[in-house]
Amino acid sequence: MKIAVIGTGYVGLVTGTCLAETGNEVICVDIDQLKVEKMQHGIIPIYEPGLDILFLRNISQKRLSFTTDLAMAIKDAQIIFMALPTPPGEDGTADLSYILGAAADVSKLITSYKVIVNKSTVPVGTADKVKAVFEANTAVEVDVVSNPEFLREGVAVEDFMKPDRVVIGTKSEKAMKLMTDLYAPYVRSGNPILFMDEKSSELTKYAANAFLATKITFMNEIANLCELVHADVDAVRLGIGSDDRIGKRFLFPGLGYGGSCFPKDVQALSKSAEEHQYNFQILKAVMTVNEKQKTVLVDKVLKYFKGNLKGKHFALWGLAFKPETDDIREAPALYIINRLLLNGATVTAFDPEGMNNIKGLLGDRINYANNQYEALQDADALLIATEWSVFRNPDFEKMEEIMGNKVIFDGRNLYDLQKMVDLGYYYNSIGRSLIS
Ligand code: NAD
Repeated sequence: MKIAVIGTGYVGLVTGTCLAETGNEVICVDIDQLKVEKMQHGIIPIYEPGLDILFLRNISQKRLSFTTDLAMAIKDAQIIFMALPTPPGEDGTADLSYILGAAADVSKLITSYKVIVNKSTVPVGTADKVKAVFEANTAVEVDVVSNPEFLREGVAVEDFMKPDRVVIGTKSEKAMKLMTDLYAPYVRSGNPILFMDEKSSELTKYAANAFLATKITFMNEIANLCELVHADVDAVRLGIGSDDRIGKRFLFPGLGYGGSCFPKDVQALSKSAEEHQYNFQILKAVMTVNEKQKTVLVDKVLKYFKGNLKGKHFALWGLAFKPETDDIREAPALYIINRLLLNGATVTAFDPEGMNNIKGLLGDRINYANNQYEALQDADALLIATEWSVFRNPDFEKMEEIMGNKVIFDGRNLYDLQKMVDLGYYYNSIGRSLIS
């Protein structure tokens, strides 16, 4: 099939590349000229495990190309994907200007039937708004389909190639047929393609993200309570996760959810509910608790240093909002850095993939290390904000030699408590009351 993908961010580039991988001819279009030029030269603009191999293979086999020319990109496309940003507006509602703007541009260019697929995360009713844009600008027949994306950054290729489910919101038989053909190679193991109306499809994505954010937030509160009652959140986690109704995944406490999706999507769903005079109380609590959770690690640091961080120096391991990505959008590390700096401390940070993004954002406000050990030089304490595998089994003796002391505040519960006691470290983590 001939496909156009508008927007080549984390979702658009993965979508375009993975669709090319099954033999489709894909043209990706973006307004960011520099990014497009890089991709045209075979330079991948994001870090996503496994994506580079597929990206280069499909470019070299001429199934994947990049342009800034929308007219050229969509001319022969049977299906046009929109993978555009839907950032929070000033009041927290999703800003649909990218989607509706692109829809208007496309509507003025098409001359034959197209399926317009929205992959972005959008409020209920967006498909209707997109349809209205087309109806206002062209007599050419289109079907507007909601096809939310559930990929997780860090495992995006795997998620796209083998999705748990594909959700397709449309009432058009013609669009349904095309979408079924397109997705057939990805659901060969029997996972379902779920057809539904556009509104249910749009709400499914928000409901999924809001549910996951609620699950994390619930565990964060359990962890906070564990600390007060001297219980161990790891034991509680295993105890409840063994129940199939609860499940083992997404039960790890930490520093609050971050990233480009959960914060904005929880907020947007809450606002969407408000617009329909519904008070979605759980989501409001989730947002409040999550804000508070961002403070727990630096609160512990402040307590340890008796409220005074002036002149103190901290090593920070982990900047990306989660492992296996370079994405630092709404990362807990940003909050930690900001608060340490506000308290008069200095910071040296290291992340396996997020360094370029953080340098672009923070410039010379902090120091940067070339590896995790270099970050420890002269640090009064180490803080851990992302659970990269490379941090899981470090050389503690080497760490002590470089740091000159043994103080770790771990927001990701990477180390065994007893081991840290045996090694003589002061080690403070989340929801585990044994502090050496
Ligand atoms: P992103 O910010 O990484 O990428 C968006 C891209 O769109 C950028 O490259 C930008 O230059 C481009 N763009 C903006 N306006 C354009 C236009 N008019 N024409 C062409 N290109 C344009 O965004 P993302 O993380 O890929 O997210 C896209 C959507 O998918 C959002 O709605 C998001 O909520 C949703 N989503 C994201 C994820 C994720 O993990 N990142 C997962 C599922 C769903």
